[in-house]
Amino acid sequence: MIFDTHMHCDYSCDSHMKIAEAVAAAKQQEIGIVITEHWDDDYPTNPTAFMFDVDEYFERFAPYRSGQVLLGIEIGMQKQTAAADEALAARYPFDYVLASMHCVNGRDLYEERCYAGQTKAEAVCEFLTDTLANLKLHDNFDAFAHIDYMCRYMPFADKELRLGEAPELFDEVFELLIAKEKPLEINTRRLDDPGALAALLTLYRRYAQLGGKYAVIGSDAHYKEHVGRGLKEALTLADEAGLEPVYFKERKMRKMRG
Ligand SMILES: [Zn+2]
Ligand SMILES: [Zn+2]
Repeated sequence: MIFDTHMHCDYSCDSHMKIAEAVAAAKQQEIGIVITEHWDDDYPTNPTAFMFDVDEYFERFAPYRSGQVLLGIEIGMQKQTAAADEALAARYPFDYVLASMHCVNGRDLYEERCYAGQTKAEAVCEFLTDTLANLKLHDNFDAFAHIDYMCRYMPFADKELRLGEAPELFDEVFELLIAKEKPLEINTRRLDDPGALAALLTLYRRYAQLGGKYAVIGSDAHYKEHVGRGLKEALTLADEAGLEPVYFKERKMRKMRG
């Protein structure tokens, strides 16, 4: 079964979707889903906005949980929260723990001021360097989310990540993920843009060339209309990069096909 492994419902403050709507959308498309509510400890300017009552989450969502509806979390990594993030991932029976970079050195990649005074190359290098630092401090996660997250927001003419901008840093990030056996996520949010698709293919191919074998696929839906969006494009991208699409249930990797 094909799974959309990244979406936000009742417990993400920026989501406009209820779990019942996500479940209905998945059923209609005959796909499985993984709920990944936001957990961003010590979020800049709003330290607790992206945190929630995890006990209540499991209690309230238990009736929806099944082989096709899995309960996970998206943990926004920061260096100063690493120990707490690791403990949280260990404390609850998540199906899936998705690790993200939403911040760089305590600044929010979503905000334009994050990039003030930087060239694009400097911003990308800082992002990759901080990603590397966080991946060294974090272990209790299953996959690394949206490597192209900053491409949504960075205020530069060229919004794509280019391997050639920081070849050694990209390799170091990919090699560390591969050594820790963590798949890269193919986030489908930007796959309708041919330029983004081409730039991303280069990155995923490099990850595969260095020994990466698997990819997870997620829409990052915050609206019911976006559940399952771009899965077909992502599966094609995975094939072209030479990566096997997988999802996680009870923290164990499972193949989507065959
Ligand atoms: Zn995210
Ligand atoms: Zn997300």
